Amino acid sequence: MPVRDNLTMSECLALIEYVSAELTTKGVESAVSAIVDKLRDAFGVSCVSIREIFSRPCSLRYTYESLDDPTKVKRINETVTFEEDIWKNVMETFSQGCYIYKAGGDQQEPQFIGPVPNPPMCMIQIPMYSGSDFFGVVDLVDFEKLRDWSGEEISALTICANFICQYLYKTNQSFMEIHNRNDTDPITGFMNFTAFTEQLDENLHSMLSNSPVAIVYSDIHHFKYINETYGYRKGDELLKLVAQSISSEMSKYVDIMVCRAHADNFITAASVPEEIIAVFDNFIHEENQRVCKLMEDNCPDVQIRMNTGICYVRDNSTTAATAIAHANLARKTAKREGMNKPLVFSDEMMEDIKRQEYLNNELPKAIRNHDLKVYYQPKINCLDDSLYGAEALVRWQKPDGSFIYPDQFIPVFEKNGNIEDVDFYVYRQVFRYIRGRLDAGLPAFPISMNVSRVHFQRDNILSYIKSLFEEFRVPTDFVEFELTENIYMNNFDRADALIQYCREHGIQVSMDDFGSGYSSLNVISTLSIDTLKIDKIFLKNAELSDNDKTVIESIIAMAKRLGMKVICEGVETEAQTVFLKKAKCDQIQGYYYGRPMDEESFNKFVEKMTTK
Ligand code: C2E
Ligand code: CA
Ligand code: CA
Repeated sequence: MPVRDNLTMSECLALIEYVSAELTTKGVESAVSAIVDKLRDAFGVSCVSIREIFSRPCSLRYTYESLDDPTKVKRINETVTFEEDIWKNVMETFSQGCYIYKAGGDQQEPQFIGPVPNPPMCMIQIPMYSGSDFFGVVDLVDFEKLRDWSGEEISALTICANFICQYLYKTNQSFMEIHNRNDTDPITGFMNFTAFTEQLDENLHSMLSNSPVAIVYSDIHHFKYINETYGYRKGDELLKLVAQSISSEMSKYVDIMVCRAHADNFITAASVPEEIIAVFDNFIHEENQRVCKLMEDNCPDVQIRMNTGICYVRDNSTTAATAIAHANLARKTAKREGMNKPLVFSDEMMEDIKRQEYLNNELPKAIRNHDLKVYYQPKINCLDDSLYGAEALVRWQKPDGSFIYPDQFIPVFEKNGNIEDVDFYVYRQVFRYIRGRLDAGLPAFPISMNVSRVHFQRDNILSYIKSLFEEFRVPTDFVEFELTENIYMNNFDRADALIQYCREHGIQVSMDDFGSGYSSLNVISTLSIDTLKIDKIFLKNAELSDNDKTVIESIIAMAKRLGMKVICEGVETEAQTVFLKKAKCDQIQGYYYGRPMDEESFNKFVEKMTTK
């Protein structure tokens, strides 16, 4: 059987145009149906399907499918639930781009495609993201022949998938809303998560007047195998059985509430007098073993285990949501550590939460005392090894001199919006620094600053930037902003307003972390981005593999075609530098040329570079 050729660059671009035109001119459903047929035809594969997230975090439901063989039955509405470990593996694979499988290679067979009649010969699976939320996958599968995927094809598919996702997201969201209005879980008849949380919130106060309240959060380990081995109907029956068993055993206690939160996750609440708490822990353990035995009797080939976390609430200041989150945290820890008994939410777990609180509480003081330090990491022009500019990266220096790195605090501050204080502080320091160099008659260079997606939930960022330009009178060509693609998804208008402002004022904008999982070219091609910043994930190997090289080369080629410059970050070796220069990358940033350094060291670095 002849192997089908890869699509040319023009064919890839035509496909993107087709997808975009379908979605903008037709209703979502008919557009996406036509698109899956078109993709199957264009890539010459046996099957193209789309699966959307059904219940968070671990179920996917087939919503669109195109098959080459009309006698085969489409899997529309079939739902596949994944074991959390496998789900995590999938997410890790996706954080590097997409998943590619080819039979006969040294890879294991794909574990996360759900039931298929026969193992595929080859497949590519493209994740769909809406903002930073994983939303689903587009699968292209061939059961009969092998095929390779070129860099252009992968980029085009990523663009198409993200485009489709933006449209599907809206319809799926309204589905979720309708779904949530109902208080009961259709499978078990018990409360669903929303109803449970609301009711617990209402009852918690009165329950606590008698005794502590235990929140028990459990999931069934390897439930996926039951679904896959015995079918989904059997799986549903078992979920019902588990819910009933939990509820009847728990009826020894008072004030009990039971819910199926999602998939195979159950939460119960009960009043447990202080003096029998140790007994209760043991009771839950035995109860779990009973439930496992019950399931094993029904499915003799499967060994079943439960992961359970318990949180005891003793005071009125705890909300239902916090208590559930604590129990869930304990469950996840139990699961991670492979414990075969329930784990009670503990001080260590609390430590992590306290660490976050510490960071949040200390932040205002750190800003006042200038404990936040701006470091500068040089960017080098590939053409002549001259200095192009730098990226501003924040560090937190504690009074004892030790450093906290941004990976430890930025995610904490992104959760509660404090990131705005950090970034505005950094921006101000950068403007002050550039102004200082200009006033001293020293050469100045473009400095880029990171913009968090959280900024666009509010309106402040643009006016703050404008005020800095007014205050420091810094020429706009010394300022750049690095954005990640996820900022556009949920806050398109505000993100667009910032980009338009930059465009009108000659401020460069770059797309950070390109290829790290959330990015796609579709947004970039519709927005005016000057520079594409290839994520350091592509340079994880000191010696780049042929695959890495192909992907990097085609990203550079595509970006150039769209009129953008390209910078690669995380460059650590000479071999990587040589390759990137040959691939016509414009700039390089990484330890090979220089680590992030404080202002004084960076000034020395600049002097060395400019007097060479
Ligand atoms: P990023 O924007 O992708 O920044 C690049 C990160 O890669 C920096 O880590 C830098 O130190 C590191 N890096 C640079 N060259 C190399 C290399 O050759 N090899 C390796 N392995 N790493 C390299 P850093 O400074 O720890 O920052 C981590 C992340 O924190 C940044 O990733 C950025 O997303 C965020 N961040 C840093 N400063 C700020 C800030 O002021 N505001 C916001 N919103 N985010 C910031
Ligand atoms: Ca950056
Ligand atoms: Ca980056």
